[in-house]
Amino acid sequence: MKIVKTIDEVRQQVREWRKQGLTVGLVPTMGYLHEGHASLIEASHRDNDRTVVSDFVNPMQFAPTEDLESYPRDIEHDAKIVEEHGGDIIFNPEPSEMYHEGFSSFVDMTVLTQELCGISRPIHFRGVCTVVSKLFNIVKPDKAYFGKKDAQQLAVIRHMVDDLNMDIEIIGCPIIREEDGLAKSSRNTYLNDDERKAALVLSQAVSIGINLVRNGETSCEIILDAMKNHINAEPLARIDYVKMVDCRTMQQIPVLDRPALCAMAVYIGKTRLIDNFFTEDV
Ligand code: AMP
Repeated sequence: MKIVKTIDEVRQQVREWRKQGLTVGLVPTMGYLHEGHASLIEASHRDNDRTVVSDFVNPMQFAPTEDLESYPRDIEHDAKIVEEHGGDIIFNPEPSEMYHEGFSSFVDMTVLTQELCGISRPIHFRGVCTVVSKLFNIVKPDKAYFGKKDAQQLAVIRHMVDDLNMDIEIIGCPIIREEDGLAKSSRNTYLNDDERKAALVLSQAVSIGINLVRNGETSCEIILDAMKNHINAEPLARIDYVKMVDCRTMQQIPVLDRPALCAMAVYIGKTRLIDNFFTEDV
């Protein structure tokens, strides 16, 4: 397993693999890897001969008010995780390697990116689509792996690949959680002890929603109200959104008459956390 810093080195390695007829999977990450990322690496290792893990805190997807500087980084720790779970190289470029002086081309998307996280993070998905397109062009993988934890991102990437005829299969992987239910996230490291306890309202609200759907409830208002009431009872929690949307278009729906995504973003203190469930997985 090696850490690669330049685009040329990645391309050269992938070219060698291709000459040998090997298939290649890509797992895009921002590093500070945990079991959630590890599950994606394992899935890629199962499906492909070789796996590239990109490890890049992409400045373009952070607004000036967000946590770009404080985002946790630990490449040595990441290298261990990648090695243990069957990754072959980590691509860990400097921002200047990805965005040379004069960089001015972007991949932008309307509609899907204007709901859910796109409302409070209006530039986020332009940064995501641009960097993921670049990674696809650099690695040219057969398959790329994304977590359902970032459900809107997964829908956006699927849509981008379809719109722009990118010849890459997108694989969505289940959310990996802590034992008490909290979805694993690099941002969980920001939480102090009280906030860590309070953060459980997200996964608890997900369970409330899942139980209502399992019991046949189809009114989105009833489901969402029950979830919001639970979150609002926690003084350290502040809801950004809790919504039910069509899982393909990301547009809100009033009744569960199609496959839907129930997604939330909640501030616990200053930390913004997300969680969700797909009705199809219930
Ligand atoms: P990030 O490093 O946060 O940008 O995440 C990189 C990839 O890992 C994304 O596709 C995420 O959806 C996925 N991921 C992050 N946390 C989890 C988790 N708890 N379970 C499954 N996938 C995850």
